[in-house]
Amino acid sequence: MLKTQGYAAFSPTTPLGPHSFERREPGPQDVQIEILFCGVCHSDLHTVRSEWAGTVYPMVPGHEIVGRVVKVGGEVSTFKVGDLAAVGCLVDSCQHCASCAEGLEQYCENGSTGTYGGVEKETGRPTNGGYSDKIVVNEKFVLHVSDKLDPAAAAPLLCAGITTWSPLRHWKIGKGHKVGVVGLGGLGHMAVKLAHALGAHVVLFTTSPGKAEDAHRLGADEVVISKHPEEMAKHANSFHFILDTVAAPHSLDTFLELLKRDGALVLVGAPGEPHPSPAIFNLILHRRTLAGSLIGGIAETQEMLDFCAEHGITSDVEIIPIQRINEAYERMLKGDVRYRFVIDLASLREAATTA
Ligand code: NAP
Ligand code: ZN
Repeated sequence: MLKTQGYAAFSPTTPLGPHSFERREPGPQDVQIEILFCGVCHSDLHTVRSEWAGTVYPMVPGHEIVGRVVKVGGEVSTFKVGDLAAVGCLVDSCQHCASCAEGLEQYCENGSTGTYGGVEKETGRPTNGGYSDKIVVNEKFVLHVSDKLDPAAAAPLLCAGITTWSPLRHWKIGKGHKVGVVGLGGLGHMAVKLAHALGAHVVLFTTSPGKAEDAHRLGADEVVISKHPEEMAKHANSFHFILDTVAAPHSLDTFLELLKRDGALVLVGAPGEPHPSPAIFNLILHRRTLAGSLIGGIAETQEMLDFCAEHGITSDVEIIPIQRINEAYERMLKGDVRYRFVIDLASLREAATTA
């Protein structure tokens, strides 16, 4: 067993703190990674506070992981020691159902295994995420990261990046499309960058007027303050696609009304409480679609990482030591992050050597 240091939540209401635990020794198909950086996703916060119910404590969050390969099993063929590698939201799936066969492991019909909060098949123990110094993952669930990308700024691509890339690709977004992005947080700012890079006309909807300038810099062609009905009304019946990344319940009708005939409002934001039910006629009258989307599969995650390397796209990050994670959560709740916190795991190693 590998002794591992990390930060864990111990209950829904107490701060995260230092935690030691064990990981499995790498098997023949496993890659062992020394974690350099881990992004802080709003899903970490929902899970830590058990807002989606069912959290098992202690739990070590983190599913935006970038690090260096330090050991590989005898059957590993695509990674070698020293490679820059990444792990996202998934560490396992059944590999034989229809979804896995199509490379959509996130929809595994037998249940995929989350990087944290899942159960490790090899040991039957809970999986623990990237707020830690190392991780051991089957090669099939490890991604390659180009040396062209800054490793800290690339970490959020592993969740915020792929969660927005996957629906943009599924709905075939590109030139000639008018695309809305709701909420300029971790997911939202990646959606703006990616939709812009795919050639769409991008409109950012925000509740924070102070983010307008950043939104334009990130690639938005227009910015709408969603609290202002007269600004919203100007865009009625005009969007092909709107991606909603908001982490709290809100009216969906305000956005459904902005879709053209056959347009789609796709929810990726996953608040603990439901949104109020939308008006049926907002859907029926213009054959509009209301849909959801979950992270992305392994192949499309690699496709997105390669696209980002080619186009020089990373996340706008604020790097923090792990000791400031509780403060970062409070700031994230206030929408006060530009636009993703990323933990520098050197802070964990330094604390261990000076302890
Ligand atoms: P985040 O950085 O906190 O961003 C959320 C943004 O939503 C805020 O920056 C804010 O943008 C907007 N917002 C408006 N009203 C809000 C309110 N009352 N409370 C909170 N936010 C509000 O979060 P994130 O990491 O991007 O995650 C967003 C959501 O997506 C979370 O629910 C997360 O769990 C979920 N998620 C889903 C998937 C999936 O697979 N579907 C994957 C990852 C994350 P403005 O200031 O611009 O209004
Ligand atoms: Zn996430």
